Amino acid sequence: MKYDYNNPLSITSQFTFCGLPFRLDTYASCAFNCSYCFARLRGGNIASKKLRVASPYSIITRFKNSIGFPETNTGVVSEFIQNRMPVHFGGMSDPFQPAEKHYQVSLKVLEYLCKIEYPIVISTKSTLVSDPLYLKVLQSNPNIVVQFSFSSLRDEVSMLVEPYSTNPSELQRTIETLSKNNIRTAIRWQPYIVGVSESVPEFVKGVSSLGAFHIGFEHLKMPVEKNAHLWKKVNEYKDIQIYKDKAKTKIDGREIVLKPEYKIAAALEVKSECHKRSMNFGCADNEIQYLSDNSCCCSGIDYFPEHSNFYKYTMSYAVKCSMGEKIKFSTISSEWHPKGSIDKHINSDSRITAVNGHNTVSNYIVDRWQRLNSRFNPTSFYGVEYYGEKDQHGFNVYEWNNGLIDVIKLPCK
Ligand code: SF4
Repeated sequence: MKYDYNNPLSITSQFTFCGLPFRLDTYASCAFNCSYCFARLRGGNIASKKLRVASPYSIITRFKNSIGFPETNTGVVSEFIQNRMPVHFGGMSDPFQPAEKHYQVSLKVLEYLCKIEYPIVISTKSTLVSDPLYLKVLQSNPNIVVQFSFSSLRDEVSMLVEPYSTNPSELQRTIETLSKNNIRTAIRWQPYIVGVSESVPEFVKGVSSLGAFHIGFEHLKMPVEKNAHLWKKVNEYKDIQIYKDKAKTKIDGREIVLKPEYKIAAALEVKSECHKRSMNFGCADNEIQYLSDNSCCCSGIDYFPEHSNFYKYTMSYAVKCSMGEKIKFSTISSEWHPKGSIDKHINSDSRITAVNGHNTVSNYIVDRWQRLNSRFNPTSFYGVEYYGEKDQHGFNVYEWNNGLIDVIKLPCK
């Protein structure tokens, strides 16, 4: 067997924003090929759609060496492992896509990670995860959450935008099976497609009896290329035309996203429907992440005490901890973060000038905290402003725009 995917463990470039930046992918490229999938064009998936397979033995050895020999295993990935930071299994591709039936790389890796009860958040759209072989392994680790993504619960809508992945009806049965077997499950309503997905009450009611504890919610990000498959498929839907309205959208990288003021109403409605049905709500739309019930926004894993060790050295955590108060760097400055070089995990367009030959996560977060026009600056959160104040160390101090607090129903302390 030739294992040809050499980057299965990495830190995502969202590390200044995301509570789960440590990712594990056993395959490069994903056979489900969802038309909206951001991962199809990232993480080395650009050049070829050819499936590449990671070596389970290399992944397991990396964990074993990082844990057993910390003095000689000092890279940022090893640092995340040594601190038992939850790993996002399936950040760029589905670990249980059809190839897994043949290669069983995810199974082998899971067997090892479950043996050491490593905290794992799995993202999948596959039914394979409920196969008895996998179920037994998952049940052996109390520190697992399995997330399932939907654009809609209606099979006919799913056929439009994700025709090659498992249909929603089957996925719902898979969630029920896992839940009945005491495996924690969560829903990702990602993407919610305005005018194409069903209404909020219909979706939340539909998933509320499956046993999942949480709904993570995020609006669709449209590819900028107007001839993209997704545009063609959904063009006939009237409401989707909002993505053509320049006053209501902005360009974020290679995607057209709705401005936050056009996302808040739906996010708050999902939150309210979740609470009616005793579910937890997480907002994965970056600018309004703070609407989440928990601090680890889209996955909501910190709902469980054993997942409280999520990554907190982020803008999001600083903002979330400072609802209605001044937002200071000191809120996060002593949170754990790796000390090694992060450069190789960042694409060349986003790299900052190296300090002492390389950059650490600390260099990046300080740069992004201070640089107001940075894509990841605290002012990128809706309602957060900078009025010129600095703390005693020279760090910018941010504030909430009081005029907006009622509009966004800011959950102040
Ligand atoms: S299943 Fe997930 S990783 Fe695979 S194409 Fe769809 S959205 Fe992307």
